[in-house]
Amino acid sequence: MELILEDAVVVTMAAGSGTGSMLVRDGRIAAVGRQARASASPGAMVARLGGATVIPGLIDAHCHVSDVGYLAAAADCSQPSAPGIPAIQARLREAVGRTPEGSWVTGSGYVEYKLREGRHPTRADLDEAVPDRPAVLYHTSLHACVLNTAALREAGFEDGQPDPPGGALGRDRAGRLDGVVYEGPMFALFERNLRHDIAQMDDAGRARLVKNAGRYFTELGVTSACDADTRRDTLTAFAEVDDAGALQPRIYGLVVHDQVDWLAASGLRGRRSDRLAAEAVKIWADGGMSSRTAAIHGTYPVPPYGSGILFFERDELTEMVRDLDSRGFQICIHAQGDRAIETVLAAYGAVLAGSPGNPRRHRIEHGGAMYPPLITRAAALGIVVVSQPGFFSTLGDGFAAAFPDRGDQLYPFGSWLRAGIAAAGSSDAPVITADPLMGIRDAVLRRTGEGRVLGPAERLAAGDALALYTRGAAFAMHREGEIGSLEPGKLADFVVLDKNPLDADPEQIGDIRVLATVVGGTPVYQSADILPAG
Ligand SMILES: [Zn+2]
Repeated sequence: MELILEDAVVVTMAAGSGTGSMLVRDGRIAAVGRQARASASPGAMVARLGGATVIPGLIDAHCHVSDVGYLAAAADCSQPSAPGIPAIQARLREAVGRTPEGSWVTGSGYVEYKLREGRHPTRADLDEAVPDRPAVLYHTSLHACVLNTAALREAGFEDGQPDPPGGALGRDRAGRLDGVVYEGPMFALFERNLRHDIAQMDDAGRARLVKNAGRYFTELGVTSACDADTRRDTLTAFAEVDDAGALQPRIYGLVVHDQVDWLAASGLRGRRSDRLAAEAVKIWADGGMSSRTAAIHGTYPVPPYGSGILFFERDELTEMVRDLDSRGFQICIHAQGDRAIETVLAAYGAVLAGSPGNPRRHRIEHGGAMYPPLITRAAALGIVVVSQPGFFSTLGDGFAAAFPDRGDQLYPFGSWLRAGIAAAGSSDAPVITADPLMGIRDAVLRRTGEGRVLGPAERLAAGDALALYTRGAAFAMHREGEIGSLEPGKLADFVVLDKNPLDADPEQIGDIRVLATVVGGTPVYQSADILPAG
């Protein structure tokens, strides 16, 4: 099966960019440019693209695939769907009827400082909407949530109890629980609910969860994704869908560190097919930026104040890294605050001392407050940084409030590239939308929702921004030989766009339309019928 793309602008992200045609044969790229026509067989199909742009399939190097699939079924409490608490209550009320008995009524996507009320909803707000069964509302960061009274009871939280380890419970002026749960206990609750609800699903339900996620990502042009939170049940679900030949995008699993022994014994470690691999391990070193729980030096000037939460001391983290490295895993550590990044770099430094560079490509996920001395250290160690440019337009004003003096230095993309750091782009969806074009725009503009530019010197040229989501992300998942650019022999993962992001007005990059998404030569999404159906 051969397909010639013609009358296109082909952005290869490799030498010889900007040619007009490409030949796809048996799921791989056979030729790019003038040779395309000459190399094709007489019976090849031809798609004339009318000047549309073809770019490599976009890669989301850090997102939460199963969470996206799971939350796709929850009440949408993000904006514009829910601009204030009454709208959140309405969305939750609508969700009651479709929530199976035994599961919690679930909403997701709110950001307290964007709500009209400018505060977290409380248990009382949720009780008004869902009085008689447990309900949970997840913050968009997935570092906080709100429970109603029935859920607080079922979770075992009581007025007057101390904060659980690694987290905090919100309280009203009288000291009663207000329903808001931060960090450690929040992760445990999300975990419990996700695991519980997946365990209730039959094969078809699990396949639906994976396919819901797949549809969401491929409509945005994403052809490969690193799942930053892979566990036994979700890796099993990915494998089931992969066995049926239906897994898209390609998934690279970052398996949560406490499930590594299971992974080693499961037969699912490593490359399972060209759609599914699990060879990396995920560790969380600290909290989140938008929940102001990233571990920093100094204290936050905004609630919940404090210096953030560090989950491991240096020695303990170093031992974990040493063990996983010796077992051949790539290690990916969530680190946002400067205190956490410093701890992670110390652990990596101790383990990599004496090895040539960073052969397993150990990563820092996010790298928010990576200030100049930490950049120098990360570059010297060859650490890969996987970051989220799309946070600027969605969460950037909250960052500016939390870091009034250092907002310009957060997510320093320009400095990373100048220091020679291998950087990759990602979304952290469902924390924000997975739309990579929005991420590319934000890497170029670094402009917050309210319009302030954070760190003009850290802005990227559009080509460098696109590289984060193509070549850079492929490198971060050890697959630069197969994906990330359009070159003969590579897998035919590509996206057809109505405009070229490299010469569009930066303001317009986020509005570029995905016309088609192709994985391994097969169109998996088309908004306009420009390619022959697979
Ligand atoms: Zn994440």
